[in-house]
Amino acid sequence: EGIFLIEDAAESLGASYRGKESGTFGDMGVFSFNGNKILTTSGGGMLVSNNAAWIERARFFATQAKEDAPYYEHETYGYNYRMSNVLAAIGVAQMEVLGARVGRRREIFARYTAALEKYEEVTFMPEIAGSRGNRWLTTLTLEYTDPYTVMTALSAEKIESRPLWKPMHLQPLFKNALVAANGTSEKLFSKGLCLPSGSSMTDRDVDRVCSVIEKVLL
Ligand SMILES: *Cc1c(COP(=O)(O)O)cnc(C)c1O
Repeated sequence: EGIFLIEDAAESLGASYRGKESGTFGDMGVFSFNGNKILTTSGGGMLVSNNAAWIERARFFATQAKEDAPYYEHETYGYNYRMSNVLAAIGVAQMEVLGARVGRRREIFARYTAALEKYEEVTFMPEIAGSRGNRWLTTLTLEYTDPYTVMTALSAEKIESRPLWKPMHLQPLFKNALVAANGTSEKLFSKGLCLPSGSSMTDRDVDRVCSVIEKVLL
């Protein structure tokens, strides 16, 4: 009680848990519409809340904190964080295809798992009971093989892949910060791999990625 929850739903638009949409569990939810997300407005994002006063206040801060006056009157700091109406329209139009995009990303994930699950060292992110992920990005961890070996092999075939995210406490910026870590995030960073997952990938594209990976795995 007394703790506000802001949900980072940046990448999980279209996912749900027990039928409830991602981004609607906290007091506020935040989505990203960056170019690599399941829907995109090229950049920017969206804040959602059932608290109308907070949303009004967020709009105030996002539009330069202009007080109610015919000229620019500022009592506090503001930001120019608004999304243009043109970009918003591009995003709204894509809401109609969200279901199809989630469906395709889930198919891509299923195709990767069907091909690669047989390797003992490969682990995919499981789907917890009651949840339906959007499978925005297919990622896996490799127990023995160095992910960079796989990345190099993919790169030779002009296929881009990436490691998993670098933990915040390993960023040079936060080298002096207090850390509560148990090794999980470091392990994911050293063993994890992000695979090509765009909704427009064909089955053949996925198969081609898998065949390169299979040449590297033991
Ligand atoms: C993409 C993403 C972000 C960053 O969103 P931007 O719109 O690029 O600032 C933050 N958190 C998570 C979990 C993300 O997936």
